[in-house]
Amino acid sequence: MNPVQYGAPCQALVDSFNAREPEQKDHKYWNDPSVDLVRAEIKDHYIAEQNRRCCYCNREYPTNNKAVWDGEHIIAKSLAPHFMFEPRNLAASCKDCNIAKGEDEVRVNPNRKAFPDQSQQYIIVHPHFDDYNDHIRWYGDVVRPLSAKGGQLVGKCKLWRFGVAKAGVEVSPPNPLVDGMIGVMMDPQADPLTKAVAIEGYKAYVRERAQKAPD
Ligand SMILES: [Zn+2]
Repeated sequence: MNPVQYGAPCQALVDSFNAREPEQKDHKYWNDPSVDLVRAEIKDHYIAEQNRRCCYCNREYPTNNKAVWDGEHIIAKSLAPHFMFEPRNLAASCKDCNIAKGEDEVRVNPNRKAFPDQSQQYIIVHPHFDDYNDHIRWYGDVVRPLSAKGGQLVGKCKLWRFGVAKAGVEVSPPNPLVDGMIGVMMDPQADPLTKAVAIEGYKAYVRERAQKAPD
């Protein structure tokens, strides 16, 4: 993914923020009206760059409407305001993914001073430094993590929510056992016996949930 290249007026604003003393770098500045143009430039760039797909759930949102999209800080701006305008710390995400991820730490070493620019310095799949398809696979609305980073992303962004919504279950906490069974069921490479065990396990889980349902 190509990082955003700021136009001259935005770059001047970013430069002046980056030149501030560390204690003067307040992440709340992001919402300052004087930053409107920068935020718009960031969103426009990444919405187009990502082909209108959220950087985390990979869903297509066929609109450029900025109310639908969030300018996403991969390292939360509250945790690292000094990386707030770093182009490789920015992407476009849907509101649900952004809200789910919140201010969770995604760096392996949060004490590192320089901007982490390598895949292995992040615990989640990184929109700039990782290939999404190496870490996450979607079977329709059912997600299957293919790596530890993929698993972390599924958990932090609640990517299981699409399958859960389809199943008509309002709220379902992440359940690694169930997620694993779904993954096996959906895996064309899984051997038949393993698959049969997963299917029976999942049936038992669904029966149990149905009995617990209030109505
Ligand atoms: Zn999303």
